Amino acid sequence: HKKAISGVLSLEAYTPGMPIEELQRKLGVAEAVKLSSNENPLGMSPIARKAVADAIMGTDLARYPDGSGFRLKKKLAEMHKIAADCITLGNGSNDIIELLGRVYLGPGRKAMFSAHAFAVYSIIAQSQDAEMIVVPARPMTDAMPLGHDLNAFAAKLAPDVSLIFIANPNNPTGTWLEPGEIEAFLNKVPADVIVALDEAYYEYMDPKLSGNSRALLDKFPNLVVFRTFSKAYGLAGLRAGYALSSPEMADLLNRVRQPFNNNSLALLAAEVAIEDQAHVAKSVELNTREVARLSKELKALGLTVLPTQANFIAIGFGRDAKPVHQGLLERGVIVRPVASYEMPEFLRVSIGTERENDRFLDALKDILKA
Ligand code: PMP
Repeated sequence: HKKAISGVLSLEAYTPGMPIEELQRKLGVAEAVKLSSNENPLGMSPIARKAVADAIMGTDLARYPDGSGFRLKKKLAEMHKIAADCITLGNGSNDIIELLGRVYLGPGRKAMFSAHAFAVYSIIAQSQDAEMIVVPARPMTDAMPLGHDLNAFAAKLAPDVSLIFIANPNNPTGTWLEPGEIEAFLNKVPADVIVALDEAYYEYMDPKLSGNSRALLDKFPNLVVFRTFSKAYGLAGLRAGYALSSPEMADLLNRVRQPFNNNSLALLAAEVAIEDQAHVAKSVELNTREVARLSKELKALGLTVLPTQANFIAIGFGRDAKPVHQGLLERGVIVRPVASYEMPEFLRVSIGTERENDRFLDALKDILKA
């Protein structure tokens, strides 16, 4: 059996950030601050929260969810001006990544993605026993340090590559691609190679930089774009994401999808949250303002700050970041070490409320002073 599961044996389990209760208990502090999982510090739309609370009190949860996600797909179809049969719903966008892996990867196939790219791409590729082509990222001296280098992707295209992941913006770097870069790359990719564009942080991007992936879908049938309700919509705990693609690709993804992969509350919350764009706008506005403030403060401390269009900042310390991570924990602030992304000198901090960000800055200044 060892041979059959060699991909799985080569894996290490994804380690999420420490739960806030665990840290509070460990440190004996009443109020720790969790800035480690790129969540929305304002939470979900109050209207969605009310809908979920009402649903819990009702009796419908004794029934299976709507396995077709009819109402949510209808809303998404209107929002993106796309046919409902071009949409695949996922239990978070991680589920979409898994569906893509199950359809397009396997032994003898290759997945391609950037160094320092989102960890789940390699987890899925390895679990499918596919080979991985990890494309070197742009150098620290580049205007987009550690960002995806799509020219290097194109240069590494090989006949058995079947799935390419591009994260825009990327996690954990926060870096992004210029709108024209993605289209130029798609023009170089053979039509039978699937390009999966991960736009988990799309809503946070400056609209001038975010490009128009919806228009690219009409031009490139090998493109799939996926987004999530976990970030700007604040539904991370409920798990809802979705992919937009050609109807043919959506059909394939739906064939391997579990029948009830989205629970009833996630479907409901997502449907309602879409209607509350004011909440999304408020969340994005807070994020944009705080990214600017924190970046400025961090640079003033002499730290390296990677450019970001997401709801987090990758901070470089020029030395092993472990002691800083530990120091922050001791001060009740949880951030994300990114050594597993081959960025041992960096920490990733998610943008919180002004108060949470101040707690982080104060703790960091205290550590750097010592
Ligand atoms: N893609 C990227 C780039 C991410 O950072 C994340 C979350 N960390 C995801 C996908 C998956 O998020 P979810 O499953 O909550 O939609």
